[in-house]
Amino acid sequence: MSRSASSRANRRGEPPPSPEPLPAPAVDSHTHLDIVLDGFRAEEPADDAAVDAEIAAAAAAGVPRLVQVGVDVASSRWSAELAARHPQVLAAVAVHPNEAGEGLADDDALAEIDRLAALPRVRAVGETGLDRYRTGPEGWAAQEASFRAHVRIAKEHGLALVVHDRDAHEEVLRVLDDEGAPGHVVMHCFSGDAGFAAACVERGFVLSFAGTLTFGNAGYLREAAAATPVDQLLVETDAPFLTPVPHRGRPNASRLVPHTVRALAEVTGVELALLCDALTTNAERVFGGWRDDPTG
Ligand SMILES: [Zn+2]
Ligand SMILES: [Zn+2]
Repeated sequence: MSRSASSRANRRGEPPPSPEPLPAPAVDSHTHLDIVLDGFRAEEPADDAAVDAEIAAAAAAGVPRLVQVGVDVASSRWSAELAARHPQVLAAVAVHPNEAGEGLADDDALAEIDRLAALPRVRAVGETGLDRYRTGPEGWAAQEASFRAHVRIAKEHGLALVVHDRDAHEEVLRVLDDEGAPGHVVMHCFSGDAGFAAACVERGFVLSFAGTLTFGNAGYLREAAAATPVDQLLVETDAPFLTPVPHRGRPNASRLVPHTVRALAEVTGVELALLCDALTTNAERVFGGWRDDPTG
């Protein structure tokens, strides 16, 4: 999601209670802690103690590993700094497609994303991609140019690519096929049907399911998840957006991802603890280990 949507998204009532903890650790592969905490703290920047409390609450619910995702230069810097100081957090850095559509992925911004991508705990470039829902046709050329630039940065640094695809399934595949996809591609907040899932799976991409998997009208997503090999699945919150049932419409947080993990266990028929193990294994394959320091 984009930062520009955050002020709207964060005024939706009190944060829901944490669910029963998962039986084994799982991963939130995509969260925006800065936007979560900005919302809670009414426009004041989040301080370290508030961030740490949010991360501790996730760990208490069985989610000790998070990927913090930047959407512009400022939030990408913040994400990289958080990951550098916090063992439970890895970072992804990018200019979001909606921001790119407004001209914000200029040469200076891309140079800074490239610089951040070299940091040891920045393990993905994203979220980047195409969004033909919020960005109108006048922004599509800039958005695609930005997506292509981010693909190249990911490949240069040997990092995973976190793809935002909103109403642009075929176009996203066209660009990735044309550029040559990086070794690890995560389709964040997967939003396609079983046919599109198959096209992603055959390319080796990983499908990350958000709270939308639990929505009553999302049978097509459950079919897509059921058809995806377990070793190509991830879960995410995209917090503060897309809060899973039974708290749909209230602010999301990483500690709520167990609702989505439980829904995924039901859909795939994989026993819950085994699914948690698989999600952690998949995340560490894609993003690298949380506690490994590749420089040390
Ligand atoms: Zn997104
Ligand atoms: Zn996002």
